[in-house]
Amino acid sequence: MSVLVYTESENGKLKKAALECVSYAKAIADEMGTSVTAVAINANDTDALGNYGASKVLNVNNDVLNTFNAKQYASVIEQAAKQEGATVAVLSSSADSKYLAPLLAVGLEAGYVSNVVEKPSSLSPFTVKRTAFTNKAFANTEISTDVKLIGLSNNSFGVVESGGSASVEDFSPSIADSGVSVESVDKAVGKVTIADAEVVVSGGRGLKGPENWGLVENLAEVLGAATACSKPVSDLGWRSHSEHVGQTGKPVATNLYIAIGISGAIQHLAGISASKVKVVINTDPEAPFFKAADYGIVGDAFEVVPVLTEKLKAF
Ligand code: FAD
Repeated sequence: MSVLVYTESENGKLKKAALECVSYAKAIADEMGTSVTAVAINANDTDALGNYGASKVLNVNNDVLNTFNAKQYASVIEQAAKQEGATVAVLSSSADSKYLAPLLAVGLEAGYVSNVVEKPSSLSPFTVKRTAFTNKAFANTEISTDVKLIGLSNNSFGVVESGGSASVEDFSPSIADSGVSVESVDKAVGKVTIADAEVVVSGGRGLKGPENWGLVENLAEVLGAATACSKPVSDLGWRSHSEHVGQTGKPVATNLYIAIGISGAIQHLAGISASKVKVVINTDPEAPFFKAADYGIVGDAFEVVPVLTEKLKAF
């Protein structure tokens, strides 16, 4: 019996969400009286996972896994979970997990709950709290299968350092030929990715055109934030689709989300409402975003944002 965590990485670097998943798994393992094993695929510096609560790290290094393939990744994690006798498996509710988790759930005959935001309120029955109805409500969900699979929402539990250390082992699972070849193209624009960001600065059609994105980028740089945009902005080709957030784009669950010239359509809010503090800057006081926001500035972005950026630089 143990808790297994799949620790996502990008270009060899563990994602912040991976550290959060290990911290979360450690909290569950402590209640269960067991330990945490992390499985990492082509990631560097995995011994650092001990500091977040992993007792053991299984390192999988194989060039075949350089590009994400849900079937192959699910098979690797399944083999690790079975080897460790894991009764709980944790991964982040990321874009990759949308494809990976259902396959893994089938392989482990596990009940799967995504977008979980808290430690289980009870181990028997095993009950977790998740967001529902595109973040408008919470649901307490019981998982009754022997093996439980949890998708943890980003920035919900937090990264917790425990000061421990982990034993690191090579793990060589059998990897079936996927039958497809995948080419991965990195379209990320900013220095900070949306998935890893604590703060996101997002621009909408109110910014009039791509030539004005310096406003968003400058503010993001001062805050160490990722940049994002509404759907029409990426549809118009002003920004890359990798920045599109919302119901049909990337989900955002940051500590601070700043929306500039975004009206706050329901499809946009659906993807960002899990963010802890939401700020809107918009000329129209009737824009729906003001109802969803914690703080709002009624004003012209072209006047407000440069002043805000300068003030923040002074801190
Ligand atoms: P607009 O609605 O045009 O709003 C621009 C805002 O800028 C206005 O409120 C205006 O007052 C303000 N403004 C104008 N000038 C200034 C200025 N100088 N300073 C400050 N403010 C200014 N949208 C998404 O974003 N993400 C999704 O995932 C998504 N999925 C969708 C799925 C479906 C099935 C459908 C039908 C729609 C989806 N949409 C999505 C589109 C959504 O309905 C809205 O059309 C879109 O979010 C509006 O984008 P916007 O706020 O940038 O533009």
